[in-house]
Amino acid sequence: MTLPEHGNTTVTGRKRLHVITWGCQMNVYDSARMADVLAPLGYAPAEAPDGADMVILNTCHIREKAAEKVFSELGRLRRLQEARAAEGGRMILAVAGCVAQAEGAEILARAPYVDIVLGPQTYHRLPELLARAVRAAHGDRAGAVIDTDFPPEQKFDFLPEAAAPQGVCAFLTIQEGCDRFCSFCVVPYTRGAEQSRPAAAIIAEARRLIAHGAREITLLGQNVNAWHGEAPDGGTWGLGRLIRALADLPGLLRLRYATSHPRDMIDELIEAHRDVPTLMPFLHLPVQSGSDRVLAAMNRRHTAADYRRIVDRLRAARPDIALSSDFIVGHPGETVEDFAATLDLVRAVGFAQAYSFRYSPRPGTPAATVPGQVPEPEKERRLQELQALLRGEQARFNAGCVGLTLPVLFTGPGRHPGQVVGRSPFLQPVHLTGPAGLVGTVTGVRIVAALPNSLSATLVQERACA
Ligand code: SF4
Repeated sequence: MTLPEHGNTTVTGRKRLHVITWGCQMNVYDSARMADVLAPLGYAPAEAPDGADMVILNTCHIREKAAEKVFSELGRLRRLQEARAAEGGRMILAVAGCVAQAEGAEILARAPYVDIVLGPQTYHRLPELLARAVRAAHGDRAGAVIDTDFPPEQKFDFLPEAAAPQGVCAFLTIQEGCDRFCSFCVVPYTRGAEQSRPAAAIIAEARRLIAHGAREITLLGQNVNAWHGEAPDGGTWGLGRLIRALADLPGLLRLRYATSHPRDMIDELIEAHRDVPTLMPFLHLPVQSGSDRVLAAMNRRHTAADYRRIVDRLRAARPDIALSSDFIVGHPGETVEDFAATLDLVRAVGFAQAYSFRYSPRPGTPAATVPGQVPEPEKERRLQELQALLRGEQARFNAGCVGLTLPVLFTGPGRHPGQVVGRSPFLQPVHLTGPAGLVGTVTGVRIVAALPNSLSATLVQERACA
């Protein structure tokens, strides 16, 4: 095989690129953008890593034992790389994402067959890194490639337009990084300080997504409601103002945003929930704990009462809003009484869905080394109790939808022949038997049954009801 000799030039030969994505929607977005950056170099998506010319492992540090899982996966990829070499080819192996950022030197030391290590803020430099990796493959080991900088330039300014349409529901990263430094979280260290993209760039990307068929856009950021970007007139907008501008774009039927911090639920944003029908009545607002003592230890800078006041204000603004949250059980120092306060908060708020996890230490974070670590069996017991409560809340919320007529945005075929699937305003998957022509429309459906994680429906009308 001829290795690519390129910097930023366009290469016409087709090369196979396989990207493995772990983690959140922001990593899914990043993976798609890395593919966009490599497309002008002749790299086209490949379904599987076998025989690929380049494999990118886009990693997530939120996973427990994240680094060990990366090394295990790299061992598997090394065998594929060797098989490719035995055929006379070469597979460039890159590790990206938050584990690459945090453990880059360790990765190159333990897995010297890895060609490129790059952090989340430097993937616009992939063409240059790839060219160096190719030189290194030709014997110039001085080209060993690691780039985990937090560069002064914003990578978004250097990314090409997205090449592949995302479909009916699209994601758009508007903000990255975080300045909040929660005790358990690696994001401020791996993604860096908060950065907000300018409004004009976001609106332009939203227009392109809509032109490619997107009807719902979810705005993404590690702390998305902290977004405060340059406005088209040179001033500064907050997220509520940006949502109003995006809601005016022709063809866009729905808007969502994730993930938010309670401290950044400012009035302007809550008012957008009141005034903008395009903004869906569903909000993922992590609280993590119901105990003020634990919230303080987590450096969350809000209390349980603060959180409940925000929920009350949201519900006053948008009475049908449904809430989702994240919970960590067994944070260092969490007592049985603290945990009971979390259960109380869940009962008081009533969540439509939630994600809950056992606390597990992340190297380099403050909570990893403090005394008072909760024994694993006790964490597990608390997690089971919390999850049983949350499952009950979700089942109650879903059951409450039965008999209602809901506007559903249909996104694609269902699992069974003749079935289509979509999303309710509250992000529940909704299945029904109906024509494929529903895909891409918002259609009123009658909810006839509630399952643990989805709803079944029948068609009421086929016209779009926004
Ligand atoms: S606000 Fe979210 S992203 Fe930021 S440090 Fe806390 S948990 Fe991590």
